[in-house]
Amino acid sequence: MNLTRLSVILIGCLNMTHAQSYRWQQRVEYKMQIDFDADNHQFDGNQNLKLWNNSPDTLKKLFYHLYFNAFQPGSDMDIKSREIADPDPRIGNRIQKLNKEEIGFHKIYFIKQGRERLKYTVHGTILEVLLEKPVKPGESVTIDMSFRSQVPVQIRRSGRNNAEGIDYSMAQWYPKLCNYDEQGWHTPSYIAREFYGPWGDFDVTIYMDKKYCIAATGILQNPDEVGCGYSKNATNRNKKVWKFHAENVHDFVWTADPDYTHTTFTRKNGCVLHFFYQENEKTKESWSQLPKILDKAFDFIETKYGPYPFPAYSFIQGGDGGMEYPMATLITGNRSINSLVGVSLHELMHSWYQMMLATNESLYPWMDEGFASYAEEEVFNYLKQEKIISGEPAIDPHLETIKNYIAFAQSGLEEALSTHADHYATNRAYGMAAYVKGAVCLAELKYIIGENAFNKGMLDYYWQWKFRHPNPNDFIRVMEKAADLELDWFKEYFVYTTKKVDYGIDSIYEANGKSIIKLKRYELFPMPIEVKVSFTDGKQILYYIPLDLMMGSKQFTDTKRVQPLPAWSWVNPVYQFDIDRKLSEISEIRLNPENQLIDINSSNDVISLKK
Ligand SMILES: [Zn+2]
Repeated sequence: MNLTRLSVILIGCLNMTHAQSYRWQQRVEYKMQIDFDADNHQFDGNQNLKLWNNSPDTLKKLFYHLYFNAFQPGSDMDIKSREIADPDPRIGNRIQKLNKEEIGFHKIYFIKQGRERLKYTVHGTILEVLLEKPVKPGESVTIDMSFRSQVPVQIRRSGRNNAEGIDYSMAQWYPKLCNYDEQGWHTPSYIAREFYGPWGDFDVTIYMDKKYCIAATGILQNPDEVGCGYSKNATNRNKKVWKFHAENVHDFVWTADPDYTHTTFTRKNGCVLHFFYQENEKTKESWSQLPKILDKAFDFIETKYGPYPFPAYSFIQGGDGGMEYPMATLITGNRSINSLVGVSLHELMHSWYQMMLATNESLYPWMDEGFASYAEEEVFNYLKQEKIISGEPAIDPHLETIKNYIAFAQSGLEEALSTHADHYATNRAYGMAAYVKGAVCLAELKYIIGENAFNKGMLDYYWQWKFRHPNPNDFIRVMEKAADLELDWFKEYFVYTTKKVDYGIDSIYEANGKSIIKLKRYELFPMPIEVKVSFTDGKQILYYIPLDLMMGSKQFTDTKRVQPLPAWSWVNPVYQFDIDRKLSEISEIRLNPENQLIDINSSNDVISLKK
């Protein structure tokens, strides 16, 4: 452990003490021994779980996720996928067709509190356990569980034999305690969407045939005894023991494959980046370029979004696309370099949005998917600007996302961001809300409060809420303080409704040698407005109209050509201002000149007075 890491951990701990006095959160410690039987794709597991009940409530029962049970015909994931109008092709009706050797399961042998065997009920992917002795506020409880699990054929995220030939993608693979917070237990049936869990430490010991190379969350504790590559052609079936330890995380992922190439790259601050992939013509080229590119990306990310506090991060070929886990990601790897960088950046950004700022993804998927998507766009664009990767950088890398949102908002299929992730009517509505509208949330906040306040807010959010469970209100409060503006109205319209923004130029005319510009709000979502006026002499002025609900104005980074105007009252559909110049001196009036506002109708935004 180097000094940089130690101090980061200490700061983390201090922050958490402060956090718990403000809002309590549960804490766990997992100790697991996994004995893997690769012939049958099954494993025996012993789990010792300690839970510190920091809540003000006495807990009489516990709930766990049993994710592998989703991969059985008739499961909620199976039915949901066959009933939804636009199924994820990765799932489709594949679960219905699984035979008993191909399904996933967790079979519980016993659950004990001390010496007492506990009663339990399995409800599909949720396990309900009745405690023998309730755990009071401030007390801890230790639960021992013994189970046997079968790794399913890969359908979604986890499973065996992924499309690129990775043997085991072990995500959502163990009985995992559901989180209990100020809203109570969170026990959503696993239908393939989102995750949430209490913070804790993991000790995971895996006994596995020696031919396998294992990649995982945390730090390998016995690198002198095990490693990748050298036992690949072993015929001796003796198992090797892999020991991993991870601190202050809320999940644990691992993968195993005999053909992994494992490389590392140590960053200046000592953080070790691990790369696990199967080498072929395509991956050899792209994966060898990854370390240096991602090292540069890390520098940029840490300046903008806060330091990465863990001692390592692993980019692991596995899974079925790209999925984030603590200290690691599983990504498919047969990609061109830019596609590989894109997916790596997105999943890496989840180290901030979910793996440190651990929102309840089921309730607020936009706070991790949307924020990660926004940051990915920023970082990708930065790498292009610096010519670290190929491609033309954009002036504003979020304009495409804003356009996508606007198109979807007019489709009639949009559902409010406050919808529970599992309960969107279509996969498309979920995807557009979580990824696109979530990213647009940050773009609009930047537009409303200005770049400096926004950048400060994103860092404040990190420092105040890392290793905790922030919700939308927590985030907006940080932004309000960073900007010294009221933003509750924005949260309420943006998160809880599908109301839309449409402003336009109603009319212009001349009176007493002045030009009068009349603007109109056509839809219900109120926003601050910017109007750029170009004059025939070549000058341009940006007229800025704050919204009264903001109780102030944004600070522009460059104020030279900005003319602030009185606030527009949200109740008033019209607003007018005058310019001390004749109409004949104006060449163009353009509302939303930078296209940053989510104005759904641009046809009423421009008046050209070309002579
Ligand atoms: Zn994501």
